[in-house]
Amino acid sequence: MKKTNDILIKSAEIVAVGTELLIGQTLNTNTHYLANQLTLLGINSYYQSVVGDNPERLLAMLTTALARADLVITSGGLGPTADDVTMELVAKAAGKELILDPVSKQSIEDYFNGIGRTVSDNNWKQAMMPQGALTMPNNNGTAPGAILVFDNLGKRKAIACLPGPPSELELMFEQSLKPWLEKRVNYKFEHRFLHMMGIGESEAELEVRDLIERQTNPTIAPYASPGEVCFRITQRKLRGQTEADLISPVVQEIKNRLGQYIYEDGERTLPEIVFALLKEKNQTVSFAESCTAGMISANFGAIAGVSEVFAGSVVSYSNSIKERILGVPSKILQQYGAVSKECAEAMASGVRKSLDTDLAIAVTGIAGPDGGTSDKPVGTIYLGADYQGQLTFEKHMLRGNRERIRTVASLRAFHLAWRCLKEKSDN
Ligand code: ATP
Ligand code: MG
Repeated sequence: MKKTNDILIKSAEIVAVGTELLIGQTLNTNTHYLANQLTLLGINSYYQSVVGDNPERLLAMLTTALARADLVITSGGLGPTADDVTMELVAKAAGKELILDPVSKQSIEDYFNGIGRTVSDNNWKQAMMPQGALTMPNNNGTAPGAILVFDNLGKRKAIACLPGPPSELELMFEQSLKPWLEKRVNYKFEHRFLHMMGIGESEAELEVRDLIERQTNPTIAPYASPGEVCFRITQRKLRGQTEADLISPVVQEIKNRLGQYIYEDGERTLPEIVFALLKEKNQTVSFAESCTAGMISANFGAIAGVSEVFAGSVVSYSNSIKERILGVPSKILQQYGAVSKECAEAMASGVRKSLDTDLAIAVTGIAGPDGGTSDKPVGTIYLGADYQGQLTFEKHMLRGNRERIRTVASLRAFHLAWRCLKEKSDN
């Protein structure tokens, strides 16, 4: 096989192939995944495209992408059926013949033998590779991938073809394409993530604007998701050399200015941080959920091993459950209403008592779209905490639709849990 390590890759363009993507039947998660991976590898992307299973348009798209980027990554259209035309057109765009690749033929045979089926005629199509291509095995399916390096209008170019099913594409990327790419980029990028809550994106950015403005290396990129803000600090390093750590001083400076909002210097989520703290302290937690109706518990339950610290929860949607199961005094419900500081605290202490945990967090609020009043508009959320008998509450006025309000309320609940656990550790 021809040696193909003779290209330097600075830019890449993702071409997702599939009519189902164009008509909105399938969400294009492959492009999302690949774009993120390219960023982590330090490869620039300037364009992305989606094209249907149409030979002329796909060929035109490949030609356009090859003129704009060093590397074109295709997703989809490698299967056995007649509408799977990617490999054929990639060969055409590169001016290569399609030939039968014996290694791919063998692995297709092995795959079908392994699942006790015979290979149907059209499966051999998947072993047809552009001449000179490096094949990438598919360890989650049948269609192998390919990497082709060639000259195009006087420049070195590469095309990498990945299968459409996300589980196949992601594994092939991790196992084959990523290591191949790592050897062909000039730089490597090191990233550090600072996660914040309790401050908006623009406000956070304002605090470090001077750092952002004079940045060259490392760079600081703020981005926001519902309820939180994250800064990505990235240092570009030349491959194969040891270079000074330029990230830590910048992280320190950001911590000096925004430290009170930062809950994670790393990549853990809030529920994971709460889990780790509880485990470290050998303590337990329970939740009482009204407007989130189990969302907090579901997020927490998604963490492996959580049973060590998670006792359980009460979804107390109605007032009568708040009263009967959590023991919220009816006086509180009458006087202050279910969406109140008093109710949130009583829910927390009620669930902590009945489930016998160290920490309990309660949420009550108005997720909308109906049910708001001028006093308590949609998005009014009260959180209550009972940590070993010590009661605290928080009030938040959240914006957005029902789903966003419930999502952010859940995050806020973990944030409150984190603060209870951390403050006691700090002392
Ligand atoms: P197969 O051998 O399954 O036919 P393929 O490589 O030919 O694989 P496609 O036929 O294009 O891939 O797509 C197969 C399935 O993979 C699609 O029905 C869709 O569910 C999923 N898929 C394809 N492209 C994407 C994408 N960009 N994002 C997410 N899912 C995708
Ligand atoms: Mg297909």
